[in-house]
Amino acid sequence: MTDTKIRVRFAPSPTGPLHIGGVRTALYNYLFAKHYNGIFILRIEDTDQARYVEGAEEYIMEALEWAGIKIDEGIKEGGPHAPYRQSERKEIYHQYAEKLLNTGDAYYAFDTPDELEKLRLEYESQGETFNYGCNTRLRMYNSLTLSSEEVNRRLASGDHYVVRYRMPENEDISFIDIIRGDIVVNTSTLDDKVLYKSDGMPTYHLANIVDDHLMEISHVIRGEEWLPSLPLHVMLYRSFGWTAPLFAHLPLLLKPTGKGKLSKRDGDKMGFPVFPLYWPYGETATGYREEGYFHEAFVNMLALLGWNPGTEQEIFSMDELITAFSIDRVGKSGSRFDPEKARWFNHQYMQRKSNEELAELFMPVVTKKGFSPSHDSLVKLVSMVKERATFITDMWKEVDFFFIAPDTYDEKELKKRWDDSSADMIRSLRELVASLEVFTPEEMEKTVREWVSASGFNTGSIFNIFRFLLVGACRGPRLFDIAEWLGREETLRRLDTGLRKLTAGNEA
Ligand code: GLU
Repeated sequence: MTDTKIRVRFAPSPTGPLHIGGVRTALYNYLFAKHYNGIFILRIEDTDQARYVEGAEEYIMEALEWAGIKIDEGIKEGGPHAPYRQSERKEIYHQYAEKLLNTGDAYYAFDTPDELEKLRLEYESQGETFNYGCNTRLRMYNSLTLSSEEVNRRLASGDHYVVRYRMPENEDISFIDIIRGDIVVNTSTLDDKVLYKSDGMPTYHLANIVDDHLMEISHVIRGEEWLPSLPLHVMLYRSFGWTAPLFAHLPLLLKPTGKGKLSKRDGDKMGFPVFPLYWPYGETATGYREEGYFHEAFVNMLALLGWNPGTEQEIFSMDELITAFSIDRVGKSGSRFDPEKARWFNHQYMQRKSNEELAELFMPVVTKKGFSPSHDSLVKLVSMVKERATFITDMWKEVDFFFIAPDTYDEKELKKRWDDSSADMIRSLRELVASLEVFTPEEMEKTVREWVSASGFNTGSIFNIFRFLLVGACRGPRLFDIAEWLGREETLRRLDTGLRKLTAGNEA
């Protein structure tokens, strides 16, 4: 495969936010291309003007950029086959529609939408489906049934028309899908799809084939929902006399239940995003980026939804994915999306990130809460709590007490831990802490433990109450790490405040 130049394209239609299934398609194209030192193209398929959504194009590009998918040729990057936006290539498609009309592989059809709708309903009322194809086309208004004078007259007078592909009758066509293997389809089961419209716009089928050919696409890797279009595409390549690219249709992303296609509604119901980024228009939607996912975790998770490396390895950097990826290891069956697993990946990446980087990411959260610790102290803090966090924003609830001294104490816990000897115990502990020469966790722990065993107090209760006074509850990282981070002064202050509050009214 290395001697043919690998050129793949991701060809989204800008009809709204890109679903994570779309990002996965882009990713597999990218991994495949880069594995073979090939070219990854972004082509915008915006021929269906009615479905065009403002902002979608930028969204697509931003999402790819966030995911680390780099575009070699595209609407912004340019390239040898520019333009890469189909609406700017109208003239090209027109020529190719003409070609098919001239060879008789396509024909003009003048049936109005109303006429077609009427037929559809008529068929439906008899429990059948109307197909514009080999069984019906000779009964319709088209250049196969009308005289050439009439056709020319209609064209000249500006009547609305479409150009339809003339699907041959009863022919078995066979082709290969890399993922699904050999496929045979009888052409009589296919209808005469519209290729071109009198508004000067091609439909998806024509534009897609023409561009894949002109852009020298070697492999078409796209979602399974396009598999039904493949026989027509294969026929179009044949009609033009072009060699078709190789095809790979990727399995669907399924709902967490495993039944049906993953939809925005599943995300809303279960509280996870189905889009890479926040979508700000119309019906807004949350995105992985805004929910606090690391782009590396997002990409890693997507890569394994449909492809498997054939080993137990689960954590892959983009470079490792490029090296390991092979289209033969993409499965045929749908991949169940698991929101828990997505979180798991984020947690894994959190643990692998340096404390410096995490501190940088966490700093804005802390600043927003009104605190301005030094970078170094935040580095220390994140090292203590990252194990408990899945997202950067999660970390605040793990560290809030470092910044905000407890004001009240968990009553239930208090009852369990505070007894008649507690106040004396804390007073002695306070003296000990105040007299410590070196204020490191190791020193503190050693000295406190020695004192506890000499004094006859119970280690568990001392440690619990100490924590309780520093934190306000029984949670947080290692006790002496907390004390060190707070510093001697703040540690003593919290012990004093605790003593005052908890003994108020009892010992005046
Ligand atoms: N424009 C199509 C889409 O929106 C592209 C399908 C294909 O890759 O051929 O997914």
